[in-house]
Amino acid sequence: MPSLPDYGPMLDTALAEARLGLAEGGIPIGAALYHRDGRLLGRGHNRRVQEGDPSVHGETDAFRKAGRQRGYRDTIMVTTLAPCWYCSGLVRQFGIGTVVVGESVNFAGGIDWLREHGVEVVDLADQRCIAMLGEWIAANPAVWNEDIGED
Ligand SMILES: [Zn+2]
Repeated sequence: MPSLPDYGPMLDTALAEARLGLAEGGIPIGAALYHRDGRLLGRGHNRRVQEGDPSVHGETDAFRKAGRQRGYRDTIMVTTLAPCWYCSGLVRQFGIGTVVVGESVNFAGGIDWLREHGVEVVDLADQRCIAMLGEWIAANPAVWNEDIGED
């Protein structure tokens, strides 16, 4: 049996990105795209507030920073929060094989849908991720609803 990649340090990278976003006054969600062999391909964070750009989610930022890849089957999208529909669509469009989420308590996004379509989804239920975003949502409900497309 092949050994599983160690997801802990990968989540730490995404979490560091989320904290960077928080320090910039933005929504604290971060992500990183890794190869299964452990190589970091790209990392990023949500910059809706910082850049006034609703299309810059943690996942899309990390994906773009990774540049062109020959294939995505052996890549792992690691994110502090379960991916929204937009980012779940990105995962399926490019055939990213594995999604590792820090948490799905504050927002479950498209993880059931991804699983139904054969994407391996690992939920680490990380208390740091749950607490950081939960506190931020409580303090910024309007910006949060804007980000997830709720009225
Ligand atoms: Zn998203």
